[in-house]
Amino acid sequence: MTVPSKIVCIGRNYVDHAKELGNEVPTAPLIFMKPPSSVIAGGEAIVIPRASTRVEYEGEIGVVIGTRAHRVSERDAMHHVRGIVAINDVTARDLQKTDGQWTRAKGFDTFCPLGAEGVAPGPLEELGVVTRVNGVERQRGSAADMVFGFSRLISYVSGIMTLLPGDVIATGTPAGVGPLAPGDVVEVEVPGVSRVANPVRAEA
Ligand code: ZN
Repeated sequence: MTVPSKIVCIGRNYVDHAKELGNEVPTAPLIFMKPPSSVIAGGEAIVIPRASTRVEYEGEIGVVIGTRAHRVSERDAMHHVRGIVAINDVTARDLQKTDGQWTRAKGFDTFCPLGAEGVAPGPLEELGVVTRVNGVERQRGSAADMVFGFSRLISYVSGIMTLLPGDVIATGTPAGVGPLAPGDVVEVEVPGVSRVANPVRAEA
């Protein structure tokens, strides 16, 4: 796969997920980034680092940018979308809490499984996202429930940093996040569009 120049993620973009972690719902999009070096494809292993005792999945809908986007309006934002990917925003939850910012917790190698890019059959607001661990459903969300929608997110992020073709915006995770253990297989699916499944192992 072509590795994006950046992966921009949105925190707390579903009310039920913000609440499950005891957080307020933000009044503007809360953004952070994952490094391109964290990207893996389906089938590659998510490696639990020795530094963490609590690594969790976050199934999300990823928007892939098709054309350079610099300060685009909400009205024009969707013209810059090329496709959709299933993305797993793997997070060392313990380090996220203790560090006070999220770069380490979100940035380990293998912490960004990306599915093959697909095209949504209809409006993006009708997309869903489902996460399964060892075949058992753990998360089921709908883009219709996002606090900030696709146009707002693309416009907002493009006003901060120029988005380049291939860049991914991970639009936030619904409720149901939980831990991963060595031996698990975790799958994130945007039904009908993209999916990514990965085994989990401990750092050697
Ligand atoms: Zn996330």
